[in-house]
Amino acid sequence: MPLSVGASSEGRRVWLRPARWAAIAFAVWGSVFTLPLTAQQSGADEFNDSHFHLTNYIQEGIDPHQFLQIMGRRVSRSTLFGIPLQQQWSYANSGEFAPTYYLQSDAPLYYYSFTDAYIASMYRSLSKDEQARFDPMITGFNPADMYAADHIRRVLRIFPGVFTGIGEFSIHKEFVSSKVSGETASLTNPALDRVLDFAAEAGLVVILHSDIDMPFAKMDAEPVYLSQMKALLKRHPKTTIIWAHIGLGRVVHPVQTSAAAAAERSPSQVGIVEAMLTDPALAHVSFDISWDEVAKYAVATPETVSRVATMLNRYPDRFLFGTDTVAPSGPGPYFAVFDMWAPVWKQLTPEASLKVRKANYERLFDEGRRRVRAWERANVR
Ligand SMILES: [Zn+2]
Repeated sequence: MPLSVGASSEGRRVWLRPARWAAIAFAVWGSVFTLPLTAQQSGADEFNDSHFHLTNYIQEGIDPHQFLQIMGRRVSRSTLFGIPLQQQWSYANSGEFAPTYYLQSDAPLYYYSFTDAYIASMYRSLSKDEQARFDPMITGFNPADMYAADHIRRVLRIFPGVFTGIGEFSIHKEFVSSKVSGETASLTNPALDRVLDFAAEAGLVVILHSDIDMPFAKMDAEPVYLSQMKALLKRHPKTTIIWAHIGLGRVVHPVQTSAAAAAERSPSQVGIVEAMLTDPALAHVSFDISWDEVAKYAVATPETVSRVATMLNRYPDRFLFGTDTVAPSGPGPYFAVFDMWAPVWKQLTPEASLKVRKANYERLFDEGRRRVRAWERANVR
């Protein structure tokens, strides 16, 4: 679906021309500066994948041995999770047509908790060396259920030594939230607070998807879910939380401000994220830049590339790359997302590039592994 997001009008382009020259100069400088990395990028250990789905919306996909073949030497480590929601095949709705994606049916989605046992059994089928490359995540809980935290605790007890975190799970997600059977999830639901409290207790890394705004939001409007999201994050300072996709989606586009509103200091997406990055009460929050639908905003124009690269260079400890691919059929679709980011990678300092592609993953998920294993030693049997 064609989107005008990130594209600027001809009139604005004229205004932005000096910035564009600066971006080009910065790109040239950046490419010289990152020469050793360019050599590294064509070979081994290019990135760790902080956001990867082994299975799809009907719980089918690839097994981790196939995924290791795809990762090859380009990817060192990856998270490993399914999708907590199952698309029902409703005969009344689509007849003989079997939907495999949530956009292919009007029938509801429901929570499919068996995904956690499936991911654990797949992980346990790997050798020790292969296991060391994965961080499995628990996703099969309903975040609107006060018992959700008890499910997570139960999974750790039944499969000790496996999981590093929880997620990706979703609260607000375009086209999805409204399709889920039962009570709609909310950022203000105490059931979610119980989940995040338990994640802090057990040391679980949290990957939380919650759109910053409604789909197709108007320019200059305050993003509808932003204040609830910030309040939630601030209620859980001891939980390690990764906000998936910086709150963006397929049609939940970056918050846009007109020139007039910008003059009144109404913040744009970058302004909103920068305010969060500099807020000491949100120091426990990181952002993932996964999903090709998010990459499309970042690489839309030379201006957006420069803006995003500037933010990553300024706050290199707070962003993680992930593909958000779902059961990829081979290396082509898997690496396409990483390669989309090439214009941004070229403008990063070597330090920022290394942190976003690899080091932040190692820091957060190694700590998660260590803490969850300690919780299991103290609490299992
Ligand atoms: Zn995802």
